[in-house]
Amino acid sequence: MGIFKKIFGITDHESKKVPPTFYSEGNSLVIYFRCKKCGEKFAAYLRKGYDLITNYDDSQACYFINKEFIGSKCFEKINLLAEFDEKYRILKLNLTGADILTRQEYEKDD
Ligand SMILES: [Zn+2]
Repeated sequence: MGIFKKIFGITDHESKKVPPTFYSEGNSLVIYFRCKKCGEKFAAYLRKGYDLITNYDDSQACYFINKEFIGSKCFEKINLLAEFDEKYRILKLNLTGADILTRQEYEKDD
């Protein structure tokens, strides 16, 4: 669970030093990542009120996402699981099959 620990640290007190994992864009949260298998880059737009599901069961988490992505280059499944509080701050994040990128990393050519 090394990746989980690393990401969780970003949301903590170090948030000013490191770029955010999710970028707010209009009514969406955007996350960038790269397929571990083939290196294909993704930009996932998660719409508030649509992709972000309101969680009525848990007292702490307000919204959650559970989404699967499959790229065009390989059949590797990428699963994004995230939980947010009422202000869309990350409580939990688990991305399998991919590495999170910053917007700069996403936009630059390899
Ligand atoms: Zn791939």
